[in-house]
Amino acid sequence: MIFLDNASTTKPCATLSDIYNLATEFYFNPSALYGEGLKTKNIIEEARKTIASLLGAERDEIYFTSCATESNNWAFERGIKNKKGNIVVSSSEHASGYECAMMQKSKGIDVRFAKLNSDGTIDEDDLFSKIDENTCFVSIIHCSNETGVLNDISKIAEKIKKIYPRTIVHSDGVQAFLKYNYNLKELGVDLYSISAHKIGGLKGIGALFIRRGLTIPPLLSGGGQERGLRSGTENVFGILSFAEAAKFYKQHYNRDLILQMRRYMAENLALLNVKINGNDSAHSILSITIPGIKAEILQHMLSDKKILIGLGSACSSRSRNNRVLSAIGLTPKEIEGSIRISFGIDNDLEQIIYATRIIKEEIVKLRGNIQ
Ligand code: PLP
Repeated sequence: MIFLDNASTTKPCATLSDIYNLATEFYFNPSALYGEGLKTKNIIEEARKTIASLLGAERDEIYFTSCATESNNWAFERGIKNKKGNIVVSSSEHASGYECAMMQKSKGIDVRFAKLNSDGTIDEDDLFSKIDENTCFVSIIHCSNETGVLNDISKIAEKIKKIYPRTIVHSDGVQAFLKYNYNLKELGVDLYSISAHKIGGLKGIGALFIRRGLTIPPLLSGGGQERGLRSGTENVFGILSFAEAAKFYKQHYNRDLILQMRRYMAENLALLNVKINGNDSAHSILSITIPGIKAEILQHMLSDKKILIGLGSACSSRSRNNRVLSAIGLTPKEIEGSIRISFGIDNDLEQIIYATRIIKEEIVKLRGNIQ
């Protein structure tokens, strides 16, 4: 089987079984005051330190959550609470950001969506025309889960902070984490969301970076875990696996190879008169529009041949009304013919050469059937 839907999730990394043993040994409640509890707490703190250092953040700036959807909900809900004014959100947010924005809108908050350029990046002129002295919160996805393009968060955050230092800046870093070289200090954001299962960790664990000095209300009240902001007994196995996977991913993510695989596929499929969405900043995701076919049928045909590809984000693929592709100017017909191929550390060039040949054959077959 060739798995080319790594933006939806990834295969757990090979060393997670060692972590299972560790988590089984340290099954104690991290809040317990006896030695075993304290040791369990300590290994969680080590894991927090690992995640923090890979982000270029401080240990006490990382708050574990159950997933990036939760991190995004926390950022939107609590980052805005008690603030008057408007919020500005990019049109390429993942559903977990977009739906939070819509929820705020339904509560009467002035929500302004910033447009995208045709290459999928945020239209900075439009963004800054929508931000004003009443903007309390801005959210811009770092790397698009649809097109894979990168937004220049550090430039944007710096500009926002220069004019409006009190505006909270959030970025969804799920698809960027460990795939690009950056650190959160340079990025200059206040809040940043990440998820473990996109980098070889388990599903059900994520984190929210909250810049030191920024106070946001708790997400969950209770026993006071996560420095009082996100109560609930810690997911010890999830947290340890997150740190282990992050170290593994950092070590094994071969950016040049990923780029080479993407380039090979893009160049070869381009011969079939397809349109590549996005720009050169994308490397782990290849979004392609194939005129004259229904992507869903192609996906089924490829799945029969044991090649798994996506149709856009797993969430948007349930309803083929792809908001992000539509925001970059694709027509409903083009969206119907769009696929998302996403590469990961378990893919190699041999797989890609084979998959490209099969994808080409199936496209030709499909177009032949239609004519
Ligand atoms: N943000 C982005 C950009 C994503 O791609 C995803 C997952 O598809 C999420 C957020 C949600 O992550 P999780 O599955 O951890 O809730």
